[in-house]
Amino acid sequence: MNKETICALATANGMGAIGVIRVSGDDSFRIVNKVFEGKNLEKATSHTVHYGFIKDADEVIDEVMVAVFHAPKTFTTENSVEISFHGSPHIAKRILEALIKNGARMAKAGEFTLRAFMNGRIDLSQAESIADLIASENEASRKVALNQLKGGISQEISLLRTDLLNFTSLIELELDFAEEDVEFADRTALNGLLNKIEYKLSSLIESFQYGNAIKNGTAVAIIGKPNAGKSTLLNALLKEERAIVSNIAGTTRDTIEEVLHIKGHAFRLIDTAGLRETMDEIEAIGVQKAKEKVAQAEVLVYLVDAATADFSEDFEMLRSLLRDKLELIICLTKIDEVVPTQFEAIEDLFRKEINHPFDFIKISALENRNIQELKNELSSFVEQMKSEEGNAVITNQRHFEALQRSLDAVNQVKEAVSSQITTELLAYELRNAIEYLGEISGEFTNDEVLGNIFSKFCIGK
Ligand code: GDP
Repeated sequence: MNKETICALATANGMGAIGVIRVSGDDSFRIVNKVFEGKNLEKATSHTVHYGFIKDADEVIDEVMVAVFHAPKTFTTENSVEISFHGSPHIAKRILEALIKNGARMAKAGEFTLRAFMNGRIDLSQAESIADLIASENEASRKVALNQLKGGISQEISLLRTDLLNFTSLIELELDFAEEDVEFADRTALNGLLNKIEYKLSSLIESFQYGNAIKNGTAVAIIGKPNAGKSTLLNALLKEERAIVSNIAGTTRDTIEEVLHIKGHAFRLIDTAGLRETMDEIEAIGVQKAKEKVAQAEVLVYLVDAATADFSEDFEMLRSLLRDKLELIICLTKIDEVVPTQFEAIEDLFRKEINHPFDFIKISALENRNIQELKNELSSFVEQMKSEEGNAVITNQRHFEALQRSLDAVNQVKEAVSSQITTELLAYELRNAIEYLGEISGEFTNDEVLGNIFSKFCIGK
């Protein structure tokens, strides 16, 4: 089906020292050779690089290096060529035009990776991990994407799926011998396998929380009464970050987020827009606004001014903000202003009044004391989400959903096994589970799913 030869700019669209155009398909060598002045590329050996010029008709467009890759050891498994040119978008356009005139066509979004998948070089979850790898912005997301590209989760699932498939064949064989009432599939062993799969699926599903933290960062809300020291803390936290920090104007929500990196993990500080101006704006933070912020957050850093005489407003505010599964860090601020003997009494007071687990950290943002401890606390919140099993981490919503469906289906099978259901129904439930498991690696997919995944890629991927 991939007879057509496709081409596209593989590097970012903009000026650069060099740009790379990728060409893939049966006719790659013939087509590029027609616009190339230099060695005869149709005779070039695989994995070699050649110096020359790209021409359109007789006009020289650029001086280039051309790399030749013979099928099947290429990204797409097809004959492929990569043209490195002087990185001007205009030159890219001219070279692409010349290739198209000679029989190539522009690649669609994600088409190179789609071909790698269709030609069986990678499975679907690996194709998706390529997109993740390209989008990775920190160490953790890079590592997880790379692990998945190497076949991390899909291989494990594929093995379990094969085992399940073998059982299903045995059970289906029983159907053929229905009158004789034989049992080819050992029900105890089947149960054992189902338990193993259930455990694996559950731990992968659990890893999604960590996966999400890696991929999208962990959302943190910094809340506290006016003058508690929020903006001073924000400045202290971002001090080292300043050089690389980016102000991301939320595109979907109308808020400003700042990103803090700690030990390779990203933390998104939610809606910090107002914090920096609090000196002018003495108006109290409305509880409603605080609630909105906390609703988006996984971690709440609540600031308490150590010099406060009466904490009842803090208790009230906190109680109205807390919800299940919210990680709470109570930060006693301005500790440089009070005598240390008071700290413990204040902590006790909060432990008594606040019916929610929390970490208690004493800081002075002004003197930069214990800011690192707060950072460590944030970092360990993410670290403890890591699955005990280690590497396998789900980062993709599609995988998460497929895993949940698989788990439901596996539980149905377990129920079927224990409830003396008919062999027909058992076989049906098994097929269901196998199909869902296959969705992750792409063994069972439809065009709509594929279209959806690959259309999110850029052209040239
Ligand atoms: P916000 O309204 O919660 O953002 O509070 P600010 O960060 O604007 O701080 C209010 C006041 O407290 C400012 O005068 C800060 O300089 C002061 N402040 C903040 N953190 C500390 C601290 O750790 N120690 C001391 N002594 N003062 C602080």
